[in-house]
Amino acid sequence: EFIGSFADHVPVVLSKPSSSEVVPEVAFAGRSNVGKSSLLNMMCKRKSAARTSKTPGRTQNINLFLVKDLKARVYSMVDLPGYGFAKMSKSLQKQSSDFIANYLASREALRLVVLLVDIRVPPQDADIGAMDLLAELDLPFLVAATKVDKIRASERAALVKGYAEAVRLDAETILMLSSQTGEGKQALQAAMLDALFS
Ligand code: GDP
Repeated sequence: EFIGSFADHVPVVLSKPSSSEVVPEVAFAGRSNVGKSSLLNMMCKRKSAARTSKTPGRTQNINLFLVKDLKARVYSMVDLPGYGFAKMSKSLQKQSSDFIANYLASREALRLVVLLVDIRVPPQDADIGAMDLLAELDLPFLVAATKVDKIRASERAALVKGYAEAVRLDAETILMLSSQTGEGKQALQAAMLDALFS
């Protein structure tokens, strides 16, 4: 029972797809506190009463919510647990990252992973690990910088370039996002729909 729509449009309530129905998925991953919840709230207007379907993990949940685009095509947005939470014990962190890795490895309908990063700091081990895993699993992914409203305009280009070089990606492929200003929303929607339906 659920769910939502892009924030610009009227929320929709859809019935839960039957298990035989394949709904393409886009998953969102990133370190704790990167701004994932804020981004998902910006991208998708969730009804407060809507229930998300939960895949229970030992320590955390993976939330899936169904969304309809303007052409009434249904897909699923997947909110993966934040990883690399420093206050969590190493064994819990490992459990959590194994849980995420298992999910990523087992979803046939997964079309894109949006990996949220903070380009104000050098690439963190957990992020590099995530990119390595995605490459190993041969899953299409997009690196997106969050909270870019916090970056001075004059510093942007250098930060993106430095980050891109460090993770060996083209700087142009890194999406710039801000949940505060809405920057990047259209570009992210376009990239998602392209991966999901083309
Ligand atoms: P999560 O742990 O990845 O889900 O991160 P949250 O969405 O809870 O955000 C963590 C903190 O960053 C909160 O204090 C948010 O208000 C803040 N934040 C999230 N997105 C943005 C953004 O685009 N711009 C700014 N300036 N702050 C943000």
